[in-house]
Amino acid sequence: MGEFELIRRYFLPLAGRQESGSLILGPGDDCAIQRIPAGRDLVFSVDALVEGVHFPRNYRPDYLGWRALAAAASDLAAMGADPECFTLALTLPAVDEQWLEDFSMGLRKASEAFGLELAGGDTTSGPLTLSLQVHGTVEQGAGIRRSGARPGDLIAVSGTLGDAGAALDYLSEPAPSADMLAVLERYHHPWPRLDLAGAIRQYATAAVDISDGLLADLGHILSASGVGARIESARMPLSPALVRLKGEKALDCALRSGDDYELCLCFSRENWERAPESLKRQLTVIGFVDAEPGLYLDGVDCSLEAVPAGFDHFRSEL
Ligand code: ADP
Ligand code: MG
Repeated sequence: MGEFELIRRYFLPLAGRQESGSLILGPGDDCAIQRIPAGRDLVFSVDALVEGVHFPRNYRPDYLGWRALAAAASDLAAMGADPECFTLALTLPAVDEQWLEDFSMGLRKASEAFGLELAGGDTTSGPLTLSLQVHGTVEQGAGIRRSGARPGDLIAVSGTLGDAGAALDYLSEPAPSADMLAVLERYHHPWPRLDLAGAIRQYATAAVDISDGLLADLGHILSASGVGARIESARMPLSPALVRLKGEKALDCALRSGDDYELCLCFSRENWERAPESLKRQLTVIGFVDAEPGLYLDGVDCSLEAVPAGFDHFRSEL
């Protein structure tokens, strides 16, 4: 099968699905065309995923399609942006029709779930690598940045943390228990918190998605905002499955492991008071922003530890 037949068969079916979207020309031409409505800003980001680095070798292709788009969409959620469309640059070692069928099916499910339409891409041969660029929009000036946290702000996280990181221990478990299956599901099918984007841009002062671990990602907010933070381990939202599986190590997973794609958010006290219960129900306050630099967990500074805790391609040894 040639490159163009491959694109036509597996990827064009993902395009042209959203009638109301801003994408006015999808795949097939030299470029796609997106019309940015007057008064809105384009918010975009690119993510590269390399086999053996960002996902395991021989990883299930339908899971890969979902996870790749979920991870990219999570960056839009962290900016408070509404999803619009994405491009996919795919490097494949060989044309494996079953693999492509499964991969495009996982990608399609994610594309429908997150409201991101395929706008175009590139297909080449080489070691398995995916690059996804996602486009979203926000009302002009409404994009939430990492740099907006101020002393006194409350720090909250969405959902529960640590499940996806714990799942790494069970990826090749032959007979996983119900608890293992629960955390594995968090790893294989992360749900970016796009549902919170509207509320975030209305109430949050700063936001980051948790892809590398809470300490590392909260650390990014702190350095961008020039502030410190005090958080409490007793407040950390842990799933019952994680606690049963990992016992005392559950907290460690929540603080230091990535892949959950939950959000870490800061709120001024006034905004927190004003925020609707429907938003607060999905969040857990874990501490507050402090004028003094440093990331204090139960009174102990772990800001230096937070640097290597997040995955760094040029520091970590694989
Ligand atoms: P060009 O050579 O002009 O860059 P290509 O030959 O790479 O164009 O691609 C032809 C068309 O197919 C383009 O519109 C491109 O967006 C689309 N395309 C290529 N690969 C993919 C893919 N993996 N997914 C979606 N669209 C793709
Ligand atoms: Mg061209």
